[in-house]
Amino acid sequence: ISIKLVRTIPAGSPTLKDFKVEAVDTPSESSLKPNEVLIRSLYFSCDPYFRGRLSGTKDSYVTSFIPGNPLEGRGIGIVEASTSPKFSKGDMITSAAFKWENYFISSDAQLTNIPSNTGISPGNHLGVLGMPSFTAYVGLVHLCKAQAGETILVSAASGAVGQMVVQLAKTRGLRVIGAAGSDDKVEFVKSLGADVVFNYKTCGNLGDTVKKAAPQGIDIYFDNVGGELLDVALSSMRFFGRIAACGMISQYNATPETAYHIKNLGNVVTKKVTIYGYIVSDYFAKPVYKDFIDEVSARFKKGDIQYKLDEVVGIENAPQALLDLFEGKNFGKRVVKVGGV
Ligand code: NDP
Repeated sequence: ISIKLVRTIPAGSPTLKDFKVEAVDTPSESSLKPNEVLIRSLYFSCDPYFRGRLSGTKDSYVTSFIPGNPLEGRGIGIVEASTSPKFSKGDMITSAAFKWENYFISSDAQLTNIPSNTGISPGNHLGVLGMPSFTAYVGLVHLCKAQAGETILVSAASGAVGQMVVQLAKTRGLRVIGAAGSDDKVEFVKSLGADVVFNYKTCGNLGDTVKKAAPQGIDIYFDNVGGELLDVALSSMRFFGRIAACGMISQYNATPETAYHIKNLGNVVTKKVTIYGYIVSDYFAKPVYKDFIDEVSARFKKGDIQYKLDEVVGIENAPQALLDLFEGKNFGKRVVKVGGV
């Protein structure tokens, strides 16, 4: 099976019709060229940045998907056959150019080995040690330099990035306020240690809710959603506050008619706020990546960090699993389980 894009979607909400679930031949071992690897897929990672790759834009940090071609992103798989000296049959690998197919051939340059003795489940290499968790670490620790005693507001706080921000912030001694889109998610974020959590869909006036939760204001806003909550956070920032501009998912399906227009940007000047826009892929080769792996893998193994994976089973369900992200239907880090070890 191969999951292919049917058409590019510059604006508005993608639907299932924009994807094709197509039966394709399994590539044969004999078709491998030198330094290539035949991979059997175990897990795909569903991530909001796919929305930008569906848009057909050429003006992005990452290439757009091409209609007629399979989707690709991060994934975990097993080597079935290899002509590369770096990989052998049975190795577990990960790649950021992992095709949404049961089997595919990749050049060895795009693959990284996952040692068999990590004590971390295959899915959690996309989860607790995956790209979104590292995104949380970069934004909170490396860029915003969170300090004990500060107050942080985290949006999409139960999600792949948010749940890690909450826990890293709590252990650094911050007062943590979370926003989430359902009562179940609110309870989960509280169980992670957040001090105040609200359901942004049912809390009434957002500005009043944030002011009540943080009467002295916010030192750090970790922004996963943009839109109205960003606007509210801007109006509550303290002097020398920092904003991790991580993502703006509320705007990814927006059209010129529905896009939210920010009104409180002036506070960046008057409150001397720093906004850190960043893309996590710039940081994997930097020392902060080792800091992240060391801290989070040790604490996860000790049971001192939780991580909620949200697993959808079956490659044919991958398009819906992706679309769910933009409606808040995932609960935790969304992955698609394609096959077993
Ligand atoms: P999540 O696991 O948090 O899933 C997305 C969540 O966003 C949904 O569950 C929903 O949570 C919330 N959401 C969806 N639509 C809306 C909306 N219209 N308004 C408000 N909230 C909405 O995703 P990730 O943790 O993987 O990603 C979070 C953000 O971080 C995204 O914006 C993503 O693009 C960004 N990101 C940025 C990276 C970077 O390098 N800068 C890297 C990785 C992610 P709820 O039910 O609580 O509303």
